[in-house]
Amino acid sequence: MELSKKKVLLVDLNAFSSFPTLAIGIITAGLRRSGFNVEVLSPLDHGKPTAMRERRERFFDHAKRRLHLSGYAPVRPLRDFARTTRAFFRDRPDKMTLQRVKSAIEDKPSVILLSAYLMHYEVVCKIAASAKELGVPVIVGGPMFNISDTANHWRNIPGVTAIVGAEVDVSISSFVDAVIKKENILKFPGVVLPDGRKSAAAVPLRPLDLSPFADFTDFPWERYPVSIIPIMTGRGCQWAKCAFCSDVVSTNGLSYRSRSVGHVLAEMEEQSRRHSTRNFLFLDLKLNSKPDMLRGIAEQLPSRVPGAQWIGTVHVDTRGNNGLGFQDLKIAVKGGMRRVSFGLETGSQRLLDVMRKGSTVERNSEFINNAHRAGLSLRCTMFAGYPGETEDDMAATANFLEAHEHLLDRVRFNAFSLLDETPIFKRMAEQSGAIILTDLEPDPQRAKMEYRNPAIETKGYRIHKRRALASVYRINSQRVRSSARQFDGLM
Ligand code: SF4
Repeated sequence: MELSKKKVLLVDLNAFSSFPTLAIGIITAGLRRSGFNVEVLSPLDHGKPTAMRERRERFFDHAKRRLHLSGYAPVRPLRDFARTTRAFFRDRPDKMTLQRVKSAIEDKPSVILLSAYLMHYEVVCKIAASAKELGVPVIVGGPMFNISDTANHWRNIPGVTAIVGAEVDVSISSFVDAVIKKENILKFPGVVLPDGRKSAAAVPLRPLDLSPFADFTDFPWERYPVSIIPIMTGRGCQWAKCAFCSDVVSTNGLSYRSRSVGHVLAEMEEQSRRHSTRNFLFLDLKLNSKPDMLRGIAEQLPSRVPGAQWIGTVHVDTRGNNGLGFQDLKIAVKGGMRRVSFGLETGSQRLLDVMRKGSTVERNSEFINNAHRAGLSLRCTMFAGYPGETEDDMAATANFLEAHEHLLDRVRFNAFSLLDETPIFKRMAEQSGAIILTDLEPDPQRAKMEYRNPAIETKGYRIHKRRALASVYRINSQRVRSSARQFDGLM
């Protein structure tokens, strides 16, 4: 059979569908380059509304966050109920998506590829069951399937042919061909079969310039509030030491690799032409891993895509040349950068050191001032409840936020999650039963561990946390800087 007659159904389960999914675009491009007939199903193209990560907040959002982060004993049962209910509604299979997938399966594709995050377990079970009835193989891939316990848990889903934890940018066609021909797919790395047999762990893909330009033509562009092209200049993170970071232990986050500036700019030019937009979202974990990449884009993009605007995430590390000095930021703004996000995590130096964050409170403060002065909209992420956090740490966080709230546009303040394979997870797993944490309970389906930290359930901690959350609410209830409004809610 010719490849062009072989139909591959590619299902995007990503509900954050305010822009196309990069991984799906890359796989689509790889398969089409080899002549496969690819059908892409995305939640938005059958009616699922776009989901914004953040928006201007109302008092109700503030109250929800306070409940979500509460450690006060009498409130905990309500908090846990609210968390479970929220997770249920967030993770439950979307009926419309399932219906569309079912009717696509009835057309008997040669294979179904599911790109799944861990929250998609239930929907994957349902799709795999439908595919099994018609004898269609189902391959499930995703960033966390290089973690053994997680892949082992997921391989038991009835109807799943294999779990894949590997970067398949250049091997996808031969892999899919082997699945269709029922050949031994254990010759490909990162594969786990339902019976538990598995191949060697995948090594990170290099050089990244071999990866094809993403094919986003199947995404419902007309339904996005703003047309934005997702892109990456590299995978992994040059620092890669934060003890809580699950991104750098995921399949595509392992070890830092970069594309060439020329390859990135050529793709930006091409995608802009294809989709008639000049808005870009860099999905790099750390866009300043290689400061010359950031500078190269800032300096060269205006002549390649006149009027281009873009946003990205950086790490305010302590290198002398981290690409984030005031002059660098001014050049970035001139080159189209409109918004920057970074992991502030906490206002306590002691805690930053415990986390191995590689940042200082002073440098974070300097960066916030410089970025604001240069004209950027600033967003940061933080969390409460890191193992070992104390009242004094939360007091420092509240102080930091209050001192900088006039410079920040958005803050994402979460409860800390203990995620599988991270250094802190391993340390805590070894100390299971130790006094620092209680109720340790592994959850291999979601690659995390539930726990309680009694040290942050004191009255003093709660008082400082209330101050910090009030500051977050004051920040998030403002409109974002006008130059960055088209990017509001995206990161
Ligand atoms: S800087 Fe960011 S991406 Fe890098 S290890 Fe730390 S949290 Fe992870």
